[in-house]
Amino acid sequence: MAAKKLPDKTVERLSQYRRALLIANATGKHHIFSHELAALLHITSVQVRRDIMLIGYSGTLRQGYDVKELIEIIGKIIDTKEGQKVAVIGIGNLGRAIIGYFSGKRTKLTVVAGFDINPEKVDKMYAGVPCPCYHFDKLSEIIKKENISIGVLTVPASEAATVADMLVMAGIKGILNFTPKPINMPSNVHLEEYDIITSLEKLAYFVKKV
Ligand code: NAD
Repeated sequence: MAAKKLPDKTVERLSQYRRALLIANATGKHHIFSHELAALLHITSVQVRRDIMLIGYSGTLRQGYDVKELIEIIGKIIDTKEGQKVAVIGIGNLGRAIIGYFSGKRTKLTVVAGFDINPEKVDKMYAGVPCPCYHFDKLSEIIKKENISIGVLTVPASEAATVADMLVMAGIKGILNFTPKPINMPSNVHLEEYDIITSLEKLAYFVKKV
């Protein structure tokens, strides 16, 4: 199933469908129609059906999608059997907030290490990471040893490019860049960038009085 790479936006929506389906499942709902999922995500039911068709699944006209089955199928597409390990680089305000938020929420995606250069942060425990914060000098060694595939970048912008290059050299396959500095990555490394200021400015544009 899903042998071909799915479009970025579809993968994003699959994650959102799963979150909505998990909530539905927790409330005892066994089946869900595409229009119900669509309403939860504020998108069209055509979009939902298109995405679900792309992953080779279909519901029934009478009952819609089987909630548990669809959660399982999305899991097979997004997750790996053994799970993937994540490292957070820069255990400052944002780094700590991210590991705390993430903690215990995803069984197949685990933050296993944090790195920092500040001696006051190194060797301390932070909620959400199972071991004390490593010094940045140990980046390559620990990433290889722990087989970490994803790096979250929460260092100052001035450090972003250097740290990202070191992550790539250590064998990281995906980077989530939270710094405001755009970075270049080789084509075999997947890059996601997120900036709250862009989201806020977009919002400001749409709500401003003209
Ligand atoms: P912070 O100063 O609290 O934390 C930065 C941490 O990085 C510090 O602990 C510092 O010791 C560490 N550090 C510095 N150089 C390092 C290196 N080479 N290797 C490892 N660790 C290093 O800053 P913050 O408020 O947590 O913000 C972190 C980054 O996230 C900044 O780039 C900031 O602009 C950005 N940010 C992004 C968003 C967003 O929405 N994307 C929101 C807030 C902050």
